[in-house]
Amino acid sequence: MKKTTKITLSNIVSRALNAQKQFDQFGFPFTLNPTVGCSFACKFCYSPIFVAKIPSGKRKQFFENIRVKMEIPSLLDKELTKLAHLPQHLKRVQINETSDYYLPIVVKALEKQNRDIMREILEIFQKHDAAGNHWMLHILTKSNLILNHLDILTEMKHMVQIEISFTTPDDNLRKQLEFFTIPTGERLKVVSALSKSGLFVRIMAMPFCGNESDMQLLKDTAFNSGAQAFKNKALNYYDWEQLQALSYDDLVNDKIERVSGRPDSKDLTLMIKSGETINPEQTIKVLMPLQKQGKAKLMDWSAVSKTDERLVISDRAIIDCGYSSISSINWGYIQ
Ligand code: SF4
Repeated sequence: MKKTTKITLSNIVSRALNAQKQFDQFGFPFTLNPTVGCSFACKFCYSPIFVAKIPSGKRKQFFENIRVKMEIPSLLDKELTKLAHLPQHLKRVQINETSDYYLPIVVKALEKQNRDIMREILEIFQKHDAAGNHWMLHILTKSNLILNHLDILTEMKHMVQIEISFTTPDDNLRKQLEFFTIPTGERLKVVSALSKSGLFVRIMAMPFCGNESDMQLLKDTAFNSGAQAFKNKALNYYDWEQLQALSYDDLVNDKIERVSGRPDSKDLTLMIKSGETINPEQTIKVLMPLQKQGKAKLMDWSAVSKTDERLVISDRAIIDCGYSSISSINWGYIQ
């Protein structure tokens, strides 16, 4: 396996927050990705094709060429000011949604520049929170390097949920599916360290490889380490058996077969504090982005500066995301 990872520190970035054209009860109004590309090289990763929009045959570019968006913090500061008027339940962002910032190579390259883009991002959210512009951050990672930020994350624990991904509780299987991630036991230590500092940790079994008892084992083990929430999703687009047999060269050279037409399935019986509707179900009226005519599922708020003109009253089922256990803010339809 030959691997050379290249880092590009880029000033070319048009925005920090990406407003989502559609999000269901399990999704988020905004995402923020400080980097594009990820050297963890999970075989099932579909960011290269669907999100980073890497052309066919160029998957290697995603796994071996990481671009860091250096201007994100200054853009974010301006965007948060512009979006301060949004209803509270829309001020939610998932960070690291399509690429993991917490890569050793990214952290080292930024240290040489005396920069830490993620810390700068956190400081900006913290500054706006102190001024009354409250956001909820969902920070997704598979890396122990998130512990570099344990100090500031602990200060922000009322406005942060950390989401640690696991594909399986079995470390031998993990090695077959993710080339360069940290071992399962190390990831559980991260869950434990974050939880001991009072941070809310969600386990993201997405995509999960295994049966229901494997998933229950992962949930029990992680909750014993302090996790409080669990979210899961089955594999889409690929087949587990084919992925297990795939070499690194085959992965980066796009020798991977797509499976189409599979539903985006979740096991709701194990999900907890991750967007499930409360029982008994209740609906309330909240302001949500207007849907484009003729495109029933698409939310029309691509021009974030005009979002106040694009909100309409909608019925929304009340969901549990564990917010009420970390924050006294009224999040509308989200508890
Ligand atoms: S950690 Fe996430 S972004 Fe990185 S390769 Fe794995 S699935 Fe893709």
